[in-house]
Amino acid sequence: MSLNKIIVMLGAPGAGKGTQARKLQEKFSLPQISTGDILRQIAKENTPLGSTVREIQALGKLVGDDVLLELVTERTNKKDCTEGFVLDGYPRTLNQAKQLSLLAKKHNKPVFVIEVKVSEEILLNRLTGRRTCSGCGEIYNIYYKPPKHENKCDICESSLTNRSDDKLEAIKSRLEEYKANTAPLIDYYTNINSLISVDGTKLSSEIFDELCCILKS
Ligand code: AMP
Repeated sequence: MSLNKIIVMLGAPGAGKGTQARKLQEKFSLPQISTGDILRQIAKENTPLGSTVREIQALGKLVGDDVLLELVTERTNKKDCTEGFVLDGYPRTLNQAKQLSLLAKKHNKPVFVIEVKVSEEILLNRLTGRRTCSGCGEIYNIYYKPPKHENKCDICESSLTNRSDDKLEAIKSRLEEYKANTAPLIDYYTNINSLISVDGTKLSSEIFDELCCILKS
């Protein structure tokens, strides 16, 4: 089933946007585009942009809007995006939201925004306990969703890593950054009637069922 939409997953770091975006990708064959993942890849490169991104990510700050626009434009121009795509972690500032609305016009697709809501206390637990598979990218949490074998992915058996920006100081800075820059997007999308909120503390499968109902209607 083709949704032909641009789906934006909005929510604080650790709210579970990435998990839901991956499920949407599987079910609707829409590519999940995580700007965090794209930037982490760039940060590994030995280039001026790579070292700038590395520094910004380690501090939990935001990379510039123009860099993001270029990366998202390039990625969404790929063939697999013709039936729509899921944006995870973009937009994160009002300016990015406005740039996305122009991009959506070029793609001739509506933007559908889903906010995953979670309290700050739960977010802190989720982020400090988060481990990501270095092979397939599967996300675990040592408190809520531990792997069957310590530090090993259930799916591909690669080792699990703790992202450099999942350290306590960086986490606090990312949550502050979210409040300052990204939370205003909730008002922006509410005002143009494109926002749907889901309770991010429910079971991941429940949230996903709810999303599917909303998206198919
Ligand atoms: P994430 O994996 O989405 O939490 O992103 C990790 C880090 O990548 C963020 O803390 C930022 O440094 C950077 N980043 C990801 N998406 C964006 C964006 N839309 N705008 C600016 N920086 C971003």
